[in-house]
Amino acid sequence: MAYTFKQTFLPASKYSIKAPHTMVPQFITVHNTANDATAAKEIEYMINNNNQVSYHVAVDDKEVIQAIPFNRSAWHCGDGGGDKDPNALKKGNRTSIGVEICYSKSGGVRYGVAEENAVQYISKLLKQLGWGIERVKKHQDWNGKYCPHRILSEDRWNSFLNRIKKAMEPNESEQQIVEDDDTMKFTSTTAKAAVRDYIQQAVDKKVIDKSWLEKFDNGTMTSGDFEGLKIIVAQRTY
Ligand SMILES: [Zn+2]
Repeated sequence: MAYTFKQTFLPASKYSIKAPHTMVPQFITVHNTANDATAAKEIEYMINNNNQVSYHVAVDDKEVIQAIPFNRSAWHCGDGGGDKDPNALKKGNRTSIGVEICYSKSGGVRYGVAEENAVQYISKLLKQLGWGIERVKKHQDWNGKYCPHRILSEDRWNSFLNRIKKAMEPNESEQQIVEDDDTMKFTSTTAKAAVRDYIQQAVDKKVIDKSWLEKFDNGTMTSGDFEGLKIIVAQRTY
């Protein structure tokens, strides 16, 4: 899993059409595009038309692209929430971050990768916001629309949520590290091997250079070094 995170923002001049209200987000709403365009094309189309149709993030097999800040509302839940709606602040449009998963029309491998990227991105967002899995809604929850259509037609909504929950759990190498200002110590050889494997993979993918592995192997890597390394890897692979 690796995607590039980008921001291609809707111009503020279009907020009145597509992101008219300030918002304190409380949920993430998941959609399928029912289309076969890339995330970049979906975002371009959304920004350039003048319809009251909008969402915050599009995800494909390579990129996660944010187009609307999370403190602005968007029109993706089909449940109203306009200025004349007395229950506006209870609506998905006014309370949720909309995430579109691309390539759902035809499905296949690229859709599968896009969906996995969405799993990883949503889990990261939940952790950043300090939210649990109960914050993740499907479009259908708001207005009954059959969306995300591919996840629903394949009867995978619960497994989709479970994958997000799993992705939120700290991985083995994170759990096993004994924090210390001095060089890294491990509770078991398995834990040590897991960390070495993590570094090796990052070196193999050319995300970091091999001096990191040498440092690990000669026992001079500190916990602080490793924390820094993880941040570098995260920045370069997300
Ligand atoms: Zn939808």
